[in-house]
Amino acid sequence: MVSVRKTKIKAVGLLSGGLDSTLAAKLILEQGIELYAINFISPFCTCTPKKAGCAAAITAVKKLGGITLKRISLGDEYLRMVRNPKHGYGSGMNPCIDCRIIKIQKAGEYMRKIGASFIVTGEVLGQRPMSQHRTALRIIERESGLEGLILRPLSAKLLSPSIPEKEGWIDRERLLEITGRSRKPQMGLAAKYGIVDYPCPAGGCLLTDPGFARRMRDLMAHSEITLNDIDLLKLGRHFRLMPQAKLVVGRNKEENERLLRLAKRDDVCFGPAEVKGPIGIGRGHLDQEDIQESVSIVARYCDGGMDGTVKITNRILPDGKIGMILTESMPYDEIQRYRI
Ligand code: SF4
Repeated sequence: MVSVRKTKIKAVGLLSGGLDSTLAAKLILEQGIELYAINFISPFCTCTPKKAGCAAAITAVKKLGGITLKRISLGDEYLRMVRNPKHGYGSGMNPCIDCRIIKIQKAGEYMRKIGASFIVTGEVLGQRPMSQHRTALRIIERESGLEGLILRPLSAKLLSPSIPEKEGWIDRERLLEITGRSRKPQMGLAAKYGIVDYPCPAGGCLLTDPGFARRMRDLMAHSEITLNDIDLLKLGRHFRLMPQAKLVVGRNKEENERLLRLAKRDDVCFGPAEVKGPIGIGRGHLDQEDIQESVSIVARYCDGGMDGTVKITNRILPDGKIGMILTESMPYDEIQRYRI
């Protein structure tokens, strides 16, 4: 047996701020472990990122007390994985197994850096069909290079003992045997600990959202992906004009402003000249026909655009000439042919 004094043992916990990861952290803190939490922010998070991590994780840290929170942003490396995940996708575009592997690998790097001894996660056996069955949990451990070093306190008694349990750093008897999709055991435990106002478990990742997944598939089929493209996917109505050209049209003032902030050099920006209406951003290689189609789509969403002509401006960003086109709006049925 490795002799390590219990009070000095450190662990790294993956903390989304949801109920499961918060409870897992609580169970470990109760055993006198010094916990360092990591909160991952991916380009597909629906949380509200703050400087120190997502709002839910910051709240959880405050509730738990006595732990340090580190925020890690997942960028281009994560996008490459989403484009080509070794273990495939779930029901949407969610590559959950590969996603967990990347996160646990990064947690492992942090663990070694700070001299921690193991990783803690809020995973529950059988809760998620893709990534939380026994085989998937074993794959995640093996491919993250951390076999035996991942402790899942909520389901630990149903899993083979991990190194922290075998070494006696953690008392296995005080861990749990929760399984399946029901959240009742966790809710009971939360009540016992006085944990309230935890976020809904269904939210969190846009890759599981059917509408977003459809737009993501379209993007991947037609171009490389950048973080800017992903941000654009989160806004507005999307239209595929040609394989090499698409249009995004804002749905409200806030989206119009955000679209303008995301517009890149060489994007074409469309807007109403004399009435109220949305901003459209054309991206890719728009020829004259694509520009004509874009203005008539944008016109459709302008005041008076349902039954008349609308004057639409177009210009190549950032400082190209402004063109002015008087156009009839595209009929609704035709618009649907382009809608992604
Ligand atoms: S739902 Fe999204 S964030 Fe969660 S494991 Fe799957 S891909 Fe990762």
